[in-house]
Amino acid sequence: MARIVQKYGGTSVSDIEKIFNVAKRVANTRARGIQVAVVVSAMGDTTDELLELAGRIAARPPERETALLLSTGELVSAALLSMALREIGCDAAAFSGPQAGVLTDGRYLNARILEFNAGRVKEALESGKVAVVAGFQGADARGDINTLGRGGSDTTAVALAAALDAEVCEIYTDVDGVFTVDPQLVPKARKLQEITYDELLELASLGAKVLHPRAVECGKEHGVVIHVRSSFHEETGTIVKKAASLEKGTVISGIACDKDQVKIAVIGVPDRPGIAARIFSALAKEGINVDLIVQSIRRNGENDILFTVKEEDCGKALFVLEPLVAEIGAKELLHKHDVAKISIVGAGMIHSSGVAAGMFEALAGAGINIEIISTSEIKISCLIAADRLQEAAEAIHNYFGLEKGVSPGKSQ
Ligand code: ASP
Ligand code: MG
Repeated sequence: MARIVQKYGGTSVSDIEKIFNVAKRVANTRARGIQVAVVVSAMGDTTDELLELAGRIAARPPERETALLLSTGELVSAALLSMALREIGCDAAAFSGPQAGVLTDGRYLNARILEFNAGRVKEALESGKVAVVAGFQGADARGDINTLGRGGSDTTAVALAAALDAEVCEIYTDVDGVFTVDPQLVPKARKLQEITYDELLELASLGAKVLHPRAVECGKEHGVVIHVRSSFHEETGTIVKKAASLEKGTVISGIACDKDQVKIAVIGVPDRPGIAARIFSALAKEGINVDLIVQSIRRNGENDILFTVKEEDCGKALFVLEPLVAEIGAKELLHKHDVAKISIVGAGMIHSSGVAAGMFEALAGAGINIEIISTSEIKISCLIAADRLQEAAEAIHNYFGLEKGVSPGKSQ
């Protein structure tokens, strides 16, 4: 019998009426003779509210207890959904993460799943029940509750699909799927039919928040087909898999926009071996992630080193760099907040030339200056002025014909 996993996010189970809607959808699938295991998130903003409660007790609440507290959100929705299913005549059983067999590594608030021993879930499915599993949680070897990091229910769902050898893991959410670009930024954005794990990982890490990155990694590792779709209608969403049968002629799949960037410049650095190493290891030691980096060409025995960090790391980065700049004999330390990173992602880039040129041409056509460029096999990123982000996204979207799904080449 076919077997699938369905995951419903917080917005899909935010009140009793919505829980009944989810129950109906699950029951319909079950009635078609398909075994269904369901993974749920906490209702609405429950996780934030629980965190807020803890914050009212202590500035830094203990992690072990915070994990225990947060796990209750998902327990509530799993129990309620199971009750709703039974109420409409569909036999069901709810499981906490540990009951479902999620063994985690002991990091209380950001745990990884080590094993998913889904025996009890399988048993429930085989006896004709729908299994409802609380997402976002597991227990470590001592039996302590761990949570999987914000958005971690996606990972529970994909890991369960792998453990059950399910045909597909359907992620029901409040958007229709994965889009070529944020539709709020570029209304012409198009929903993608398919995308590869690697592309989605790039888009996710670039700031397009669709699926928990670890869920995508887990899907990639176990070859789980993931279907991201809306919980509000029946239309198909976006299929995430290994090699997307690349939509005809498509080189670029999507554009990611990230405003959460600060540019830092160390000006007039003596051109000596070891200087870059000192700067970047000092930052790394503080756990600061450096993103785009450029070093200007040498003039008069000096150059400039520019890079970006996340907004939240800016203060710490400047604090670390100020004494260092004096020590290495650099002239000045500057930083600039109003920058944004725009990136294009596409597995098809590996086999195409001229993609970078196309992106630069699109930006030039819109009169947008590029401050830093960085590339990888399937991604090209440019740092630009934050207030030109929307124009840049539109220009690139048009240039590559993303609206129609035909690229590369000019849109004219
Ligand atoms: N409830 C958790 C969160 O809000 C996990 C999830 O929604 O996936 O992050
Ligand atoms: Mg979520």
